[in-house]
Amino acid sequence: MIDLVAEDQKNIWHPYTQMKNALPPIPIVRGEGAHLFKENGEKLIDAVSSWWVNIHGHSHPYIANEVFKQLNTLEHVIFAGFTHPKAVELSTKLLSILPSNQAKVFFSDNGSTAVEVAIKMCLQFWFNQDVKRKKVLAFADAYHGDTFGAMAVSGRSAFTRPFDALLFDVEFIELPTKHNLQNLKSKISSLKSELACFIFEPLVLGAGGMLMYEAQHLDELIAHCKKEQVLTIADEVMTGFGRTGKYFASDHLQNKADLMCFSKGITGGTMPLGLTTCTLEIYNAFLSDDKLKTLFHGHSFTANPVACAAACASFDILTQPETMANINRVAQNHQQFKDKIQHHPKLKEVRQTGTIIALEWLNDSKTSYFNNLRDKLYHFFLDRGIILRPLGNILYILPPYCISDDDLHYIYQQIELALEEF
Ligand SMILES: *Cc1c(COP(=O)(O)O)cnc(C)c1O
Repeated sequence: MIDLVAEDQKNIWHPYTQMKNALPPIPIVRGEGAHLFKENGEKLIDAVSSWWVNIHGHSHPYIANEVFKQLNTLEHVIFAGFTHPKAVELSTKLLSILPSNQAKVFFSDNGSTAVEVAIKMCLQFWFNQDVKRKKVLAFADAYHGDTFGAMAVSGRSAFTRPFDALLFDVEFIELPTKHNLQNLKSKISSLKSELACFIFEPLVLGAGGMLMYEAQHLDELIAHCKKEQVLTIADEVMTGFGRTGKYFASDHLQNKADLMCFSKGITGGTMPLGLTTCTLEIYNAFLSDDKLKTLFHGHSFTANPVACAAACASFDILTQPETMANINRVAQNHQQFKDKIQHHPKLKEVRQTGTIIALEWLNDSKTSYFNNLRDKLYHFFLDRGIILRPLGNILYILPPYCISDDDLHYIYQQIELALEEF
């Protein structure tokens, strides 16, 4: 048998990893349900859904079979000038559950590209009409991806530092509260003639630390943007497909964004796929006899049929009643655990939205990814067979919906032990 770790270390550069002092990567050779297995058969609970993508469990037999069938039928076809059954099926399926203002579907490969496409659609929407609205509004703690445009509309941080000078100018605002809502609206009004769009993660800012805010406040911000003709983009890359207790976080809102971005859970975590949807109003601004008004954007693997087949299969599972029952079950377990520990003296705050629960440790040093509590917690849980990747002093659980009550209670129990230790 080849030594996976040795060969890996010879050849591979891992994401978000300081390779100089990184511990050896852990080889995973199999997955089933909420579990991943090491070479020696040892089991790990995937409590972060493998970077938030896996919603129905690993190696789901239905998705696997649909992917297999698609691979034996058509693996890929150029998507400019051509189409295929699974792209058509997926667009119909998704539009049937998306907010009714969403009319058109644009395919790409991942969350960052879904965001890039949304931003380009907004900027060109105004360009095509000769209106000089070029600025983007975003939350200061937002995370929208790692490519340049997505990085630009994300909050500035240690991760963006080497590139800050090259990132386009963005207006950042704080998360809305009942105290600052009026100020935020005034700011939008004062900038409105320059603002092309407002991009936000609805209800939960993921990589920014699982920061949660009121649907009602976001609703008011979106309504205000509509009044000032500022386009709105809901980045549902993390929140989409059941994560917040409804199909989409936008389903908690009265006012719907003009554009929406999806990836992560869209294929059940099986294949990379990104998707940007928009209203007819956006789409129509690109219809012209003038070729320059075209959206000149596309990727080699746009609407890859195998990825679309995985997404159609994941949709079928998502829309079965058992899945929403599982989502509610996970959310209820989280809620009960929150009630139990939220006043723990070592915790600053416990937050929960749908299947996400986040515990913020009180800490003297500033909240940051580089906080050494993070490493201690990470290894504490790994030693106990649980994959959790704290964001600094913020520990969160974001599991596949099929995770068992037993596994959840085991994780909660270990968290209580961690609270005693750290
Ligand atoms: C992960 C994430 C992205 C980026 O998606 P990738 O597929 O990693 O490029 C964008 N927006 C949000 C809200 C995310 O959580």
